[in-house]
Amino acid sequence: MGRVALVTGGSRGIGEAISKKLLADGYTVAATYAGNDEAAAKFTEATGIKTYKWNVADYESSKAGIAQVEADLGPIEVVVANAGITRDAPFHKMTPEQWHEVIDTNLTGVFNTVHPIWPGMRERKFGRVIVISSINGQKGQFAQVNYAATKSGDLGIVKSLAQEGARAGITANAVCPGYIGTEMVMAIPEKVRDSIVAGIPAGRLGEPEEIARCVAFLASDESGFINGSTISANGAQFVV
Ligand code: NDP
Repeated sequence: MGRVALVTGGSRGIGEAISKKLLADGYTVAATYAGNDEAAAKFTEATGIKTYKWNVADYESSKAGIAQVEADLGPIEVVVANAGITRDAPFHKMTPEQWHEVIDTNLTGVFNTVHPIWPGMRERKFGRVIVISSINGQKGQFAQVNYAATKSGDLGIVKSLAQEGARAGITANAVCPGYIGTEMVMAIPEKVRDSIVAGIPAGRLGEPEEIARCVAFLASDESGFINGSTISANGAQFVV
């Protein structure tokens, strides 16, 4: 049995591609989902990935879920904090509810996911923490004050965790995808999406598998000296 990897939001979209890639690379994979799309979770489970349902925005649920994964599969050595949502609105129309929902899921959700796993990684002197941030956390985005705040926050989390974990053999890195052809992006009105694609020098949306390959590299033993870094995979849309 390979190392145990946990992928939050691993039942569909980018997370599903990450789960499948890690499974193909020999990891034992647990994927979580929120419960909005049971069919996608069943489909993922059928591929040999064990699926678990909990809300990453809730600390106690995350802690209990993680304890269950470790009881079922063994200690989690790779954690991919991928679950995320958008609740877009121009700032003057953004409601406190839209703000809090995104902060709770995308930012506090990363704390809730990594915090219960961290002590075990420190004890075992090995760990890989990978957070899926976003191009919009790097550059900001119209109507995404809430989302961009969380995705910038993710970068602060990994840079800080990297410094705390380095001596304990733990790395923490982020991947910043550009626009990837998942349900999140396909939900954007077609006209807006076309204008987004027109602004990508590569001339296309990215594919979930292209993000999954970045994650697989950061999870591997070969990436041990890469710590506190960000891989931008965005077709040259935003060059840092
Ligand atoms: P999808 O909407 O396709 O999938 C989201 C996944 O996260 C689902 O498995 C969903 O479960 C799960 N999820 C959502 N909220 C919660 C929650 N509160 N608790 C537990 N699980 C939850 O998203 P994408 O694949 O498009 O995005 C994945 C990540 O990549 C996100 O963090 C996103 O911000 C980031 N990203 C995406 C980009 C893109 O172009 N798509 C670009 C840059 C970054 P369920 O099926 O039950 O809803």
